[in-house]
Amino acid sequence: MVLATVATTESPVEEAFPTYTGDEFKLLYDHAVRHELPNLIPPSGRLPVSGDPDLDERIWDIATARGYVLRPVAGPDLGSADGVPMQPQAAAAWVELREAARAAGHRFVVSSAYRSPDSQRIQFNSKLRGTSDEAIDAALTWYSIPGTSKHHGGYALDFRYSDGTFGEFRQTPDYAWLAADNFLNAKRYGFIPSYPDDVTTQGPNPEPWEFVWVGVDLIRCGMPCVEAGSGPMARHPGGESPVEFGLDRDARRRRWRPLAFIG
Ligand SMILES: [Zn+2]
Repeated sequence: MVLATVATTESPVEEAFPTYTGDEFKLLYDHAVRHELPNLIPPSGRLPVSGDPDLDERIWDIATARGYVLRPVAGPDLGSADGVPMQPQAAAAWVELREAARAAGHRFVVSSAYRSPDSQRIQFNSKLRGTSDEAIDAALTWYSIPGTSKHHGGYALDFRYSDGTFGEFRQTPDYAWLAADNFLNAKRYGFIPSYPDDVTTQGPNPEPWEFVWVGVDLIRCGMPCVEAGSGPMARHPGGESPVEFGLDRDARRRRWRPLAFIG
């Protein structure tokens, strides 16, 4: 009787996730923000970094060469979980992931999610040691410039071992639990690695502590949805996020102006 109970705990359907390479995880996220995830404001262009136009142009060029791209910014309907601001769907999924992790004996926490371009600017400038190309590239190894962080969208979460640092997360049993079987435990709750290994031009070096929420349905669908340019969560063709639907262009502009220009 006990054996029978154990054997039926997991349904075969629940386990049906494709296996992804690092580059495919990257494609999944890019597709999700372009076609599927709601409450995102498309980027308006390069934002100031240092305030010096010539230096900023060089910083942007070096960042672009590393693979940094303009990212959308969260719209006005942010939620939160554990006191950390993030998109509502990511918050709900994190609570479920957290409970599954606790049940398996893992206690990692979410320490950062949504971050505004202004906060990103302050962080990057505080890490920039000089203005040589080498100094700029060194800062970009770990820190995005304003406008290029996945944290702007509110679907990226940084995890941290309950009594450790980001840098140590890779070596923890918590990470091993998330990453086993091509990140099965993350995928079950709609999360995938944000900056995985084996991707050469993605901006920063691999960041094993950062995960992005793209939804379980998209992870199940995978490359066919990416190649079709649409997917299970898309409300309509054309790639606009659902929050835009029903707003005319002027209403959209009025609503978004305060958030689209950060100074
Ligand atoms: Zn992060």
